[in-house]
Amino acid sequence: MSKKKMICIMCPIGCELTVSKQGEKITVEGNRCLRGREYGINEMVNPRRVLTMSVKVENGEMDLVSVRTDAPIPKKLIYDIIEYIKKLKVKAPVKRGEIIVKNIFNTGVNLIATRTVEKTKMGGEDEIRTCTGSGNDKLSGNCV
Ligand code: SF4
Repeated sequence: MSKKKMICIMCPIGCELTVSKQGEKITVEGNRCLRGREYGINEMVNPRRVLTMSVKVENGEMDLVSVRTDAPIPKKLIYDIIEYIKKLKVKAPVKRGEIIVKNIFNTGVNLIATRTVEKTKMGGEDEIRTCTGSGNDKLSGNCV
């Protein structure tokens, strides 16, 4: 039998959970509600987290735009996804809520911008670009 102690983060009460797994059977103790039970089970079998980071911006009023996943992603993929996001670059303008990467790492979750970054005023003529590729047309590598 494996046993894990954890704090439920689904509400500010923060119940102390004890989650036990024996074979296929998982039991959760210490929860005051069903959300805690669900949280405990998920933490035991497939823990997930929302990831927040920044992505580099080209030709923007700011060099970075804050981003987050629009749903929790599996914890086991977080370090690979962080490394991937560190290498991304988008071209301004970027709008708040805009999808930066669709279906990141085939998780069914999108990476979205959480603020707007306008194009720099010093750029002169508007740039014309043609974007190709699946998933995200804003990635600089996909645009010519
Ligand atoms: S078990 Fe329920 S009451 Fe307790 S912290 Fe989780 S969500 Fe809140």
